[in-house]
Amino acid sequence: MSEDLAIRRAIAAELLGEAPDENGFAPCPGRHLHTGANGRRDFRVLLEGAPTFFCLHASCAVIVDEFNAKLRSMIGKAEAHGSSGPARPPVLGNVPPLPVAPKRVKRPRYDPAKLASFAARVPFPITEAWLASRSPVAIPAAQGIETAVHVLASLYAPGERVLLFVKEFSQGDFLWESAGGSFRLGETPGAAAVPSPLPMGGPLGVWFLAQPVTGRWAANPNNRADDGSPKMGRRHGAVVTAWRFMVLESDEAPPELWLRALVQLPLPIVAVYTSGGRSIHALCRVNASCKEEWDAMRDELVPILCPLGADAAAMTAVRLTRLPGTLRHGSRGKDGKVTAYPSPRLQRLLWLNPRATTVPILDLRS
Ligand SMILES: [Zn+2]
Repeated sequence: MSEDLAIRRAIAAELLGEAPDENGFAPCPGRHLHTGANGRRDFRVLLEGAPTFFCLHASCAVIVDEFNAKLRSMIGKAEAHGSSGPARPPVLGNVPPLPVAPKRVKRPRYDPAKLASFAARVPFPITEAWLASRSPVAIPAAQGIETAVHVLASLYAPGERVLLFVKEFSQGDFLWESAGGSFRLGETPGAAAVPSPLPMGGPLGVWFLAQPVTGRWAANPNNRADDGSPKMGRRHGAVVTAWRFMVLESDEAPPELWLRALVQLPLPIVAVYTSGGRSIHALCRVNASCKEEWDAMRDELVPILCPLGADAAAMTAVRLTRLPGTLRHGSRGKDGKVTAYPSPRLQRLLWLNPRATTVPILDLRS
């Protein structure tokens, strides 16, 4: 079977109702279900290997799965017939109407009025300086890779392994082991890891997978090749060793109000840090016993936190989050192109409390 990218592109364009741009980005066919803000690079079409539609949002998964099934079936048929004679684009009917998703947990929208009134219960600004002065673990004024290692060492037990990323769509670029070493990982299952210092920064920053993992490749039953066999991966549920954390982030809430909300939440917030851009992330300890329990906890928190601005699409169990203490050298524009900042920006640690309880940050004694 041969891959004909022209045919594949034509089929993807037919299905989506418009051609993906040169980087494969296109509007998500499930965007009417998105609960977070839409971005031009949320949805991507990958046509080499197993053709795949991929969306950053979780709320449209039902639709995206359907489109993936159609895409693979149509490409499979076209390529089976395409072996004799020159390739020609398939003749297809009209683009079908958007399928209706089955009923699922309703994710409430961000409610700016609700956030404003909740935030107003704190009658003074919550600034980075305020957080740093109250943080149970001292926040260094000058931060770097040693800050990152200190954060990791305070959140993961000896022997636990954490996957780090300088390319957000990779299967993990570095591995850090608590009370162990750090390694640069091979890009394919056969390639050996080599001892290496951790990256001090990345083109778009540095991320870590919030749950500790085995660090090994394993078959991912939710990501299948076109012959139906599971693909190998290092960042999926089957390699997670503890369902410990949940990431809260907001792209929509004004950071000033988002911080005033965060400090009032009765959640064990172990760390707060910036994205190096406008966004502020909070890492909460949930200690679920399994993914099902993690999902159930998420479903209870969503109706409370999403009206206050938390991004429901980011509340998934296998989640990358920014590694504080590392540098972000640029951002990806709406056209998918990476633009370097005039000078690198720090993903700044604002708060660290490994022994956090449900006492809100605001109520902790300094
Ligand atoms: Zn989507």
